[in-house]
Amino acid sequence: MDASILNYTVNDNVGKFLKQTQKLYINGNWVDSKSGKTFDVEDPATGKKIATCAAGDKNDVDLAVSAARKAFDSGKWSSLPNNEKGKIIWKIGDLIDEHNEELAQLESLDNGKPVAVAGAADVPLSSDIFRYMAGWATKIEGNTIPYSCLYTPGAQYHSYTLREPVGVCGQIIPWNFPLLMAAWKIAPALAAGCTIVLKPAEQTPLSALRLMEIINDSNLLPEGVLNVVTGFGEEAGAPLAEHPHVDKVAFTGSTEVGKIITRAASGNLKKVSLELGGKSPTIIFPDADIDAAIAGAASAIFFNHGQCCCAGSRLLAHEKVFDKVTEGISKIAENIKVGPGMDASTEMGPLVSDEQYKKVAGYIESGKSEGGQVVAGGKYDNSSGGHFVHPTVFSKTNHDMTLVKEEIFGPVVCAQPFTDENLEKIAETANNTNFGLAASVWTKNISVAHKLAAKIRSGTVWVNCHNIFDASLPFGGYKESGWGREMGHEVLKNYTEVKAVTVNL
Ligand code: ADP
Repeated sequence: MDASILNYTVNDNVGKFLKQTQKLYINGNWVDSKSGKTFDVEDPATGKKIATCAAGDKNDVDLAVSAARKAFDSGKWSSLPNNEKGKIIWKIGDLIDEHNEELAQLESLDNGKPVAVAGAADVPLSSDIFRYMAGWATKIEGNTIPYSCLYTPGAQYHSYTLREPVGVCGQIIPWNFPLLMAAWKIAPALAAGCTIVLKPAEQTPLSALRLMEIINDSNLLPEGVLNVVTGFGEEAGAPLAEHPHVDKVAFTGSTEVGKIITRAASGNLKKVSLELGGKSPTIIFPDADIDAAIAGAASAIFFNHGQCCCAGSRLLAHEKVFDKVTEGISKIAENIKVGPGMDASTEMGPLVSDEQYKKVAGYIESGKSEGGQVVAGGKYDNSSGGHFVHPTVFSKTNHDMTLVKEEIFGPVVCAQPFTDENLEKIAETANNTNFGLAASVWTKNISVAHKLAAKIRSGTVWVNCHNIFDASLPFGGYKESGWGREMGHEVLKNYTEVKAVTVNL
């Protein structure tokens, strides 16, 4: 273990885990990559190496896909009684909770987020989706369909639909919620009876690997059902997305890579679901509970250091309350304690990587040079080796600015006033983006809230709240924010095919 980690007190299992070189998990075995190549994983708070992982490539992906294909075709998972599948999926949820402390520490060390946040949000939300999906394993049903016999008068047919697992799933996930994104992908695919090759993000592979270890140690899944190949996007992700024996690819990440995945998937027209970027508006009306709106809008952008696809990165506040709102959010921003995620007093950790740090710093500079007014933060500092960006509020921004148009994926909010309360105009401003992932509306007027919710073109609209998630609620985007939905029973559509069976009676 690197000395930097010894500065923190870590769970014994974390200590042991970080000492081993991480391998790929293929067909029930831990194996080195065929090439023997590895890559380093760093602590974003120090920039120092904390782990070494096998770097998978096409050859490893081939092996993992072939294991998943064999496991699927044998029916050893899909034909297991659904209540048995449900029990296993539920058990995975229980195991995640039992290992809360170590998974939260790994998440903090790997991603940079505060360990308390990982323990209170990332880990329990991950176990919860397994439990929610465990229930669905016994409830994936078809329909019986009345038939008109249009061109066969007098004949009688019995028609029904079957909902069947889509097959082998390639699942490619990002670094912002490493364990939770793995859970959002694995749990519904297992509930539907699919087999899986999971590719974690190269920046944050540790919690998914530890989860796989925990599942493996409990002998919960038949070999080949769940495989994990770590590695870089172009080396391990791309061959998975284009693999001819993969039936479906599920991706969460940037819109840019989502488009690449879509093209790669076209070779065998595999099914594609995408949960991509966002530029979500937080819309505050003058009649709102302003203190609650200020706290909510601050949390909407600063939670997880703004590294959320649904971050409230565009603040639209009515001119009557604009100054009060921006001052309130700025005050919160200035008081957020930035530091290493493993430090118990830290409220905002470092960004995940040097690349992300440079990207966000670049947006802050472009905002300044395009005439944006920094009213809080605007500072970034990597002198300690960590990738620290301070929560930043830009006031008096407008739609032509780069930082208003593009997804920053950092703790930077762009505030714009609006002047009248014409809902068409407000919706037009809110919808003036290529993205359509989420929005929040802050008002006490229930009629305004519902009317605006209907006009906003995004997969989620929150009213008087933001970043409220539940395993039962579908999440995903309109426009360039993606295809399909994660979570809720909607996600099962991603992992099933519908078959119509018609019997001539
Ligand atoms: P970000 O830009 O936020 O780092 P990305 O969209 O680049 O997010 O990455 C999300 C996931 O997609 C990661 O697991 C990454 O390795 C993977 N990835 C990146 N490029 C490709 C690619 N060309 N094909 C398949 N997967 C990729």
